[in-house]
Amino acid sequence: MLVRFWGTRGSLPVAARAATIERKIARALVAAGGQRFADEAEARAYIASLPDFSAAHTYGGATTCVEIEGGDDSFVICDMGSGLRELGIDAFARCAAGKPREYNFFLSHLHWDHIMGFPFFGPAFDPGARIIIHSGHPDAEQALRRQQEEISFPVPFDGLRAAITFRTLVPGQRYDIAGMTVQLIEQYHSHASYGYRFEGGGKAVCFSTDAEHRIDDMENEQAFEAFFRNADLCICDTMYSLAESVSIKADWGHSSNIVAVDLCQAAGAKRLALFHHEPTYGDEDIERMHRESIRFEELNRGDRPRLDVLCAYDGLEVAL
Ligand SMILES: [Zn+2]
Ligand SMILES: [Zn+2]
Repeated sequence: MLVRFWGTRGSLPVAARAATIERKIARALVAAGGQRFADEAEARAYIASLPDFSAAHTYGGATTCVEIEGGDDSFVICDMGSGLRELGIDAFARCAAGKPREYNFFLSHLHWDHIMGFPFFGPAFDPGARIIIHSGHPDAEQALRRQQEEISFPVPFDGLRAAITFRTLVPGQRYDIAGMTVQLIEQYHSHASYGYRFEGGGKAVCFSTDAEHRIDDMENEQAFEAFFRNADLCICDTMYSLAESVSIKADWGHSSNIVAVDLCQAAGAKRLALFHHEPTYGDEDIERMHRESIRFEELNRGDRPRLDVLCAYDGLEVAL
C-alpha cells in the first residue's frame, strides 16, 4: 500500500507567511556557518541533513485529504479538504498515462474543512469520470449540494459533468470496494464522524480524524482498540495537546497526541501518523508535539513492540 497525504491541517487552510520563510532561510544560513554549496543538489543535501524538519520545511496548510493506493487501479480518497485540488491536478496527469478515471471517496464527516476541496476538484468536471462518494452520513449529498448553492459558489453541483453517485455505508459491515475491504466506525464528534479501516494485500490502514476519545468511556476505547488492531498505519486526529483536550477544549470533538499513541500501542498498530494539525500551530509547535509524542511512546511502551510515530505533512508519502 502507498498512502499520500495531500492535506493534513484541521479546521482551516493556512499558508506560511513571508516572515516565516524568511526566518527559516536566515536560520539555515546561520547554521551553514559559511559553508559553500556548488549547486542546488548540494544545498538540498545539506538541508536534508538538518535535524529539525521545521528548520527548512513546512507541514503545510491544506485541509484533510489522503489518498490510499493498494486495491484495484481506481482512486481511493479519504476526505475532500482543500488538499483535494492538488490531487485533482495530479490525477489528470496519471489518467493521461492510462489510469482509470474512477474515484472512490470516503468521507469522515461533512464539516466544511473536509468537503471544501470538492468544488475545486478538476476531475468532477470531466464527463468521462465516475465518482462514488461513500459516507456514513445519509445527508452527504445535501452537504455537497449546499456548498455549491449560488449564494456560496458560482458553479452549481449539477454543473459538474462527472457521473457522481452517493452511497451510505453502515458501521459493523465489511465492504469490498476498489479491491480493498472497507469497514467504518462511528466517532464522537459534532454531527458524528466516521473512521475507516482499509485492508488489502495483507496491509491495513486506519483513517480516523475528527474523533474525540474520552478517558472516562472505556467501552468506546475498547471498540477503537479492536478497530485499529495490528494496523500498519493509523492516521489519527491529534489536533490538541493532552492538557488542552481534557480541559479547555473538552467536548470540542478532537483528540490529543497522547491519547492517539496510547490507543495505537494498545491496538498493536505499527505506525501512527499525527494528523489534522491545529491551524494556529506553527511548524515548530507541530514538531515539538511530534517530539513529545515519540518520547511518550518510549515511556509508555513497556515490553510491547515499538510504535513508529510519524507527523503527517502535505506531500508525505508512506509506503507500507
Ligand atoms: Zn476537521
Ligand atoms: Zn469536524
